Amino acid sequence: LRATLLDRQARRESSARTYARNLPVAPAKAAGAVVTGVDGRTYLDCLSGAGTLALGHNHPEVVAALQSTLGSGALLHSLDMITPQKDTFSTELLGRLPGELRDDARLHFCSPAGTDAVEAALKLARQATGRRGVVAFTGAYHGMTLGAASVSGPEGMRAGGPADSQAVTRLPYPYGYRCPFGVGAEQAGVLSARLLESLITDPSSGVDKPAAVILEVVQGEGGVVEGPDAWLREVRRITAAHGVLLIVDEVQTGVGRTGHFWACERAGVTPDVLVTSKAVGGGLPLALIAYRSDLDTWQPGAHTGTFRGNTLAMVAGEITLRTVAEQQLTERAEKLGERLRQGLRELAADHPVFGEVRGRGLMIGVELVDPDGAPDRLGSLPPHPALAKALRAACLDHGLILELGGRDDTVLRLLPPLILSDIEADSVLARIADALRDTEH
Ligand code: PMP
Repeated sequence: LRATLLDRQARRESSARTYARNLPVAPAKAAGAVVTGVDGRTYLDCLSGAGTLALGHNHPEVVAALQSTLGSGALLHSLDMITPQKDTFSTELLGRLPGELRDDARLHFCSPAGTDAVEAALKLARQATGRRGVVAFTGAYHGMTLGAASVSGPEGMRAGGPADSQAVTRLPYPYGYRCPFGVGAEQAGVLSARLLESLITDPSSGVDKPAAVILEVVQGEGGVVEGPDAWLREVRRITAAHGVLLIVDEVQTGVGRTGHFWACERAGVTPDVLVTSKAVGGGLPLALIAYRSDLDTWQPGAHTGTFRGNTLAMVAGEITLRTVAEQQLTERAEKLGERLRQGLRELAADHPVFGEVRGRGLMIGVELVDPDGAPDRLGSLPPHPALAKALRAACLDHGLILELGGRDDTVLRLLPPLILSDIEADSVLARIADALRDTEH
């Protein structure tokens, strides 16, 4: 059956498929962090729907709430009409927002994908400031629609394709391992922020004052690259000082994944517009932006879409938000992430193809490098695409689903559900160790 399904899929589906591309798995069932294939093989899932399933597959409370909603006669789809489920979800979300947005933000429900919420954020910034330009960062990933792709970095497989816009200015993201300035992340952050300030304030920069800056606190698809807190604070200071909006895309980092409910909270930074999707819908499609209420200058109809107001997504989302908070899964993500990173660093000591182990909480990346290549001035080694592919395949042979990301698709990415157990985490490490041994022989 597995072979039949995979064969039919290969003939029927677009070659633009990306996540888990070439992973020959045909899943039948899943619970928690474990996926079972139609052939009965089990896998540990360190992809979890691209970080969507914070509570894992088929969390009993989520399933029970969905079942009772389905049997209750509630509207499954309500467009913009307020339902008790939407009201409960909104209250829960508003109470969890960072800083000054908490309980005071406006919510704009979008067509249910991160990319549409990014479109909404960009349009809102233009509408609210009367300006057009946007500053974005190299290596960013904000989605596949044209606006979101335009503010994504031009590098990498999931970088947004060929879309580009005259209104976008791209600054270097402070990426420590492959540092754009050759100086390391902290110093790169200082330079990146300085570039931003001169671009905004210096008329000779040739760039009109932008409407907004859009960024990821930790770049996900870009290869689990963490912007330093000091850089983020500096970007916040500069944008606030000059009336430029700060859009923080927490589509992947949000809802506890990085060890904080929102990744921007670690630096004490509150954006003007926060973009969220993935885990906020508890595994069902939901996307929205939360923004300062004084920015709410939309005209009715300014950004709409049919499939907003999905009741089941709001039910699953509300339980997810509440469970992450009540069961302190942010702390768990932090602790378990540290355990995994520690184990990966121990592997790095014996396997020089692990160039750098990094990440925050349960958003983890390993830079896969060619140990025989020439180091750059910071001692970083060149990427190793062939090894990355082989290692991902070997992990799958050992029953571990994970993905690659990054500028060259050579960062091993782990995005397990936040409910991964300690035993499962150790098993993830053991499987990676086995896969490493296989690929090195
Ligand atoms: N922003 C970020 C930071 C993302 O990681 C993603 C998806 N990987 C998106 C936006 C786009 O979300 P979607 O795939 O739901 O359109």
